[in-house]
Amino acid sequence: MSRIPTICPFCGCGCNFYLMVDGGHVIGVEPNPANPVNRGMLCAKGWNCHEFVQSPDRLKLPLIRKDGELVESTWDEALDLVCTRLKDLGEKHGPDSLGFLSSAKVTNEENYLFMKMARGVFKTNNVDHCARL
Ligand code: SF4
Repeated sequence: MSRIPTICPFCGCGCNFYLMVDGGHVIGVEPNPANPVNRGMLCAKGWNCHEFVQSPDRLKLPLIRKDGELVESTWDEALDLVCTRLKDLGEKHGPDSLGFLSSAKVTNEENYLFMKMARGVFKTNNVDHCARL
């Protein structure tokens, strides 16, 4: 078993814990007692934040609606479609016609890059995160 230090992604408090990894699977979390933010404590969301990782319901491939049905796609196809649609909508209706909603189920670093993409590439401040909803 290994312990991977990380930060809880579910809200802005920034609680610190270790992901407990066994055989390539995340099996639990252990709060870091030395961290001054949470001092060894976590809320219910933090204690359970690892559960989605191995969920059988988790999507592993992007889905694209075709003829009214969601069908599995490749990442290249899905990302090309999203880029084309966002670019077209931004050009037609302006950058504030776009909105970007990120996820607590990705890393803080990925959320940062998502925000930079919304503001830097698509020129909108309409960017938010599900932890605020
Ligand atoms: S453990 Fe709870 S309070 Fe701490 S960062 Fe996660 S969601 Fe926020």
